[in-house]
Amino acid sequence: MRILLIEDHATVRANTSEQLERAGHEVDVAVDGRSGLLLALAGAYDVLVLDLGLPHLDGLELCRRLRAQRGAGPPVLMLTARDTLDDKLEGFAAGADDYLVKPFEAAELLVRLQALARRSPRAESETLVVDDLRYDLGALRVERAGRPLTLNRVGLRILRELMTAAPRVVTREQLERVLWDGFSPESSVLRSHIYALRKAIDTEGLAPLVQTVRGIGYRLAREGGA
Ligand code: CA
Repeated sequence: MRILLIEDHATVRANTSEQLERAGHEVDVAVDGRSGLLLALAGAYDVLVLDLGLPHLDGLELCRRLRAQRGAGPPVLMLTARDTLDDKLEGFAAGADDYLVKPFEAAELLVRLQALARRSPRAESETLVVDDLRYDLGALRVERAGRPLTLNRVGLRILRELMTAAPRVVTREQLERVLWDGFSPESSVLRSHIYALRKAIDTEGLAPLVQTVRGIGYRLAREGGA
């Protein structure tokens, strides 16, 4: 797992990160709330271990801001020396997923973190969604407005790029790099794949989603929408 540990107490921080690393995990540390929030927003972590009492920005406020800016984001386990029901409720209300009271055993922390990571939105949300288009990456299943679509492998690969970037534009060069390692057979080949993709996705009666950005590439968005 990739773990972000935000803890201002030097000994607790060193011991905890050492134990987690010894168990085979990758650990980044932050020593205060402000730098912790920046790391949490920038990085792709499976789980956060967050101390409640932190300089600059306390754990509750950090958690609130993280949830406000990243929605679901990674699961958060809160560490605290306090152990009252109010503290727990406050932590959960701020968006924490679990709670551990100091002092704790590293073994228990590990088990809790593993359970959290399994429930993590990152592990489950292998489905890309743009408008009424859904692509389940695990099952390689694509649906538009609830109706299943049939796409070939190239079509699926293109769709994945477009959906991941949406509503931003994906350039033809980017697509060619992904599909053919940069060696596009001919520009008309990509165009014909896009044509097939558009035919499958933008069927009659539905708002067109596949947009051509002339001279640049393609994007997925409702016409006129962002
Ligand atoms: Ca502290």
